[in-house]
Parts: sequence; structure tokens; C-alpha cells
Amino acid sequence: MRDVLWHPYAQMKTQPPALKVVGGDGAHFTLESGERLLDATCSWWCMIHGYGHPRLVAAIQQQADTLCHVMLGGLTHEPADRLSQALVRITPPGLNHVFFSDSGSVGMEVAMKMAVQYQVQRGHPGKHRMLSLMRAYHGDTTGCMAVCDPEEGMHSLFAGFLPTHHFAPAPTAGFDAPREAVEAGIQGLREVLEAHHQEIAGLLMEPLLQAAGGLNMTSPYYVQAARELCDEFGVLLIFDEVATGFGRTGKMFAAEHAGVTPDIMVLSKGLTGGYLGHAATLATDRVYEAFLSEDPDHAFMHGPTFMGNPLACRVALESLAVFEEEDYLGKIASLNAILRQELVEDAKLRAHPAVEDVRVLGATAVIEVHDAASLEGVQDFARRRGVWLRSFGRWLYTMPAYVTQAEEMRQITTTMKDWFLSETPRP
Ligand SMILES: *Cc1c(COP(=O)(O)O)cnc(C)c1O
Repeated sequence: MRDVLWHPYAQMKTQPPALKVVGGDGAHFTLESGERLLDATCSWWCMIHGYGHPRLVAAIQQQADTLCHVMLGGLTHEPADRLSQALVRITPPGLNHVFFSDSGSVGMEVAMKMAVQYQVQRGHPGKHRMLSLMRAYHGDTTGCMAVCDPEEGMHSLFAGFLPTHHFAPAPTAGFDAPREAVEAGIQGLREVLEAHHQEIAGLLMEPLLQAAGGLNMTSPYYVQAARELCDEFGVLLIFDEVATGFGRTGKMFAAEHAGVTPDIMVLSKGLTGGYLGHAATLATDRVYEAFLSEDPDHAFMHGPTFMGNPLACRVALESLAVFEEEDYLGKIASLNAILRQELVEDAKLRAHPAVEDVRVLGATAVIEVHDAASLEGVQDFARRRGVWLRSFGRWLYTMPAYVTQAEEMRQITTTMKDWFLSETPRP
């Protein structure tokens, strides 16, 4: 039975059998055995309301009674209409058009196609490549793999198969860095644009937080400079807010820390509160208008079967309503205060010889170690303490659900710290 279901990023020969989840409530999920685990990762960062949220479950049930699915080709429905309007309202000013798809990767594919076709229809067919950043992660489909970090990313194996794009160095100045400290990163971006702008359609970035690339936290100054450079070189600025969107960095969208509106922005993960797969690619009037023409061939030629799925749109609307009515930004600020106090301000943790850095932004915290080997076994260690933690590479992180209670947040941070500091010898 074990080898029928093929698990992601898993060595099926050696990895222990996956744990069987039967339900969940709040920040916990429950295993078949009755064991409850406090999810420090909120299921790859998407279950922002935790499990079994009554309002989200009811929204799906009510929508299922009305309309489960209908194509968006030539048809529309109220959940898709309302969600597109809601997304225009909450995203940075100027993003007035919404294209739905079914996952973060596809949302990014849509963004890249949109940028290339925009350039063609504006008379710049030579601008057909992307500029991405080292340490970037934008998804696992072919087009997305090609804009992930080509060295450290998961996809070096496929190098011969992928189209080539341009890469600028990953920004190194942290979130609070003074403007001067960000200069080197900005200069790195400028150099690539100066050399190759004639062939660059768009600059892709995960603003402020390169998530899967090691939770690399960067400065709002860098994001602002990227906006200016894109305008200078006729390049579209594309924000991948799949991970950062819906509060993860402490504001609704990371773009808000910098006061920047990108030309195109992609949302997924938290969009539906994690309850169904969906994504949205938003565009400004300038981008949208490049597709308006008497020529049918200038239309945007894309259309996933499940785009605008009514169940997904309905639960996304409910997720947003809960987020706003229950002051989630306030909850995120409270989680942030605990993460700072318990991790960043813990001098013993910072001084531990295995630890390279401890960083926090919004409801995200990471302990970066010098050597990935020092995190081996941490998942089992955490499970014995009732916590679901999954490190990757040199990063032990938490991105909790926003409904995580203060004592639960401390249970997670204590578990993370104890891995390094606890007196009891590790097995
Ligand atoms: C998860 C993620 C994606 C891909 O989303 P999927 O829904 O897994 O396809 C893209 N970009 C970022 C920043 C992500 O974190």
C-alpha cells in the first residue's frame, strides 16, 4: 500500500511511512491513533485559519448545495465576480484585473506568459526572458522551475530541459537594514538590467521574504529600488506573493511594507485559507490594456479548466471575511511579539555554536544553522513534544496558523529552542 501513493520530495525507499491524518481543529491536526500534533508549518503555509474552521467549512457546504463548478469560458458566477472585486479592493492600488487559476505554480506561469505577451503587443518581441533572483522559488512546473535558483534550487537536475533566464544576486541586507546596506543588492540588480534589459520582459520576486529559498528576509528599500529600476528599463515588476500574501510578513501583502504596486501580482496558498487549491494573478490597467484590440489574437490565451471554481472562490471570500472581522493582523502582531521575545531575543540560542542566525518577520520565524546535519532528527524530537515541525536544508522554521494561541506559539518556540538547548541528551 505504501508505494502506491507517491509522496512529494520523498525518498520512497527510505522514508518512514507517512502519518495518517483523520481530522483537525484550530492549529492542531489529529492522527488515526488519536495523537494530536500542533502544526508549526500550517501545512506548507496555507492553513492560516487552522483546521476545521466552522465558517470556512459551512461556506463550502453552502456553495456545494448551489453550484460546485462551471467553466469560466463565456460564463461567470457570483463567487468569482465577488472574489475578483474583493481582491482588487485589498491588494495595492492599481491592480484592477484578476485572472484565476488553480495553484501557485500555474498562477506564476500565467504571470510570466502575461508579461511576455504584453511586451510582444507593445512592440518589444525581443523581451522574452525573465529576470529572477538567486534563492528564488516560484513553483515546480517547468516554466517555474526555470526561474528558481539554478544552483541551490531543487531543479538543477533539469537544467538541460529548461529555458534560460537571467538571475541577479539574492539580496543580502535584512528587513531592518539601513538604506546604505541595501545599496550593494540594488547595484547587483541594476547591473543585470543594464546588460540584458533588451531581452527581459519581467522581474520576478518574492517581496521581502524568499520563502523556500531559506526564508531570506530582505529590505523594503530593495523592493522600492526594484520598482524604480523596472520603470527605467521597461521591465514589468512581478510579485510572487504566494507565500507572503495574506498577512505572513505582518501586513496584508509584503508589497505594503514598501508602498509599491507591482505590474503583476500572484496570490495562492492563503487565498482560500488553504481549504481548496486556487490562485489569482492580478494586473494593472497598463498590463490589461495591452491585450485590448480588434485583433482576437491579442487576447490572453490561457484558461485552466478549474479557474474561478465556485467552491474555491466562495471559501476564499469567507476566509477574507474572517481575516478582516477577527483582526487577523492584530493576531499576527501578537504572534510576532512572541516569536521575537522567545527566539530573536534569546541570547543562549543565538550564541549556540550550531546556530548561524535567528530571524523573524510577521508570523514567520527561522533558526538558520551552519550545517544541515545539526537538524537531523528534529522532526521526531518535535513530535514527541506534540509539535509538527519540518525543517528543510539548514532552516528550522515556523509559519504558524494565525489562530495559534499564545501558549501554543510558546510550545512551538520552546520545542525549536530545546532542540539546541535542552539538557536532556537527544536520542
Ligand atoms: C508554494 C509557492 C509557489 C507554488 O505554489 P503551488 O501551489 O505549490 O504550485 C510559488 N511561489 C511561492 C513563493 C511559493 O511559496
